[in-house]
Amino acid sequence: MLKKIVIPLLQWYNINKRILPWRDRNNAYYTWVSEIMLQQTRVEAVKPYFQRFITALPDVQALAQCPQEQLLKLWEGLGYYNRVRNMQEAARQVVSEHQGIIPEDYQTLLSLKGIGSYTAGAIASIAYHKSVPAVDGNVLRVITRITENNGDISRQSVRRVIEEALSEIMPEDKPGDFNQALMELGAVVCIPNGMAKCEECPVASLCQAYCHDTVDRFPVKAAKKERRQEDKTVFIIQDGEATALRKRPSKGLLAGLYELPNVPGHIDRERALEYVRKLGLDPLYIEEMPSSRHIFSHIEWRMEAYRIRVSSLEKAKDKDLIFADKEQTGKRYAIPSAFGAYARYIKEEKR
Ligand code: SF4
Repeated sequence: MLKKIVIPLLQWYNINKRILPWRDRNNAYYTWVSEIMLQQTRVEAVKPYFQRFITALPDVQALAQCPQEQLLKLWEGLGYYNRVRNMQEAARQVVSEHQGIIPEDYQTLLSLKGIGSYTAGAIASIAYHKSVPAVDGNVLRVITRITENNGDISRQSVRRVIEEALSEIMPEDKPGDFNQALMELGAVVCIPNGMAKCEECPVASLCQAYCHDTVDRFPVKAAKKERRQEDKTVFIIQDGEATALRKRPSKGLLAGLYELPNVPGHIDRERALEYVRKLGLDPLYIEEMPSSRHIFSHIEWRMEAYRIRVSSLEKAKDKDLIFADKEQTGKRYAIPSAFGAYARYIKEEKR
């Protein structure tokens, strides 16, 4: 039954595919960069990030040689910074072990840092026309609906069954288009949260869930563990144009990025002023900022913040503090979006 979806799906894709800066370029590097970015956010949001990245680092060699601070800055706003660190390690592997050419072979691609079955399948099929599937969340949703597969899609065994089923029906002449057609259908037609546009779907007559009116039961996914909540107080400590920043540790969450100084828990004004004095600074003015939160996959930060003007940041005893003006922050220091609600004050003039 699944084999019957190939032709209508390819015909639909041919007419409806979106024009994207990385599409139909036969460039494995473009496919790789775009697929890693697309694991993090929507197509429309990825476009400017992709252009910025490719302009600065147009090929594997440039990625391999890029200084880490510049690399993190180029990734700023996308989150999951380990992904770009892994990309750079993989680029170095490509340069040292594969003469700078991204491998065509699926298994060899899997040996590169940070490349899993989905990305390997996408690169091999889209850029090199190899007959291997590329199964992401969109494809899992489409196929579990078409086949009424009620396995838990967070399990590797279920993903493998779907990969094997797709391997058997992959059209030899257009494997890349077929994979992209499935992804595209999942992204624009077979969408989640009760919004599937089945009346526009080229494979509706073959879709078991549609025929049995069970679309909203698929895909099946085990409930996620609850997120741990962490309270923080964030400090925007400023002296004229300069704002105090700190580099995060080289391991763990948001490793190696820059942050506004912060302490665990929510503290009142007096303790906030005490904290700033302990840094060796003279606070002149304190203002409470709106609270904000940031959700990571396993943790939620609940932040309160103070903006504090001091007489001179130069007096700080904490030698780990960096004083960045707005231009340096814009060009040099990658500040994760977790601090996005407050990072914008760095760019404002002092009050
Ligand atoms: S008919 Fe509906 S549920 Fe089935 S594949 Fe198409 S959009 Fe998805």
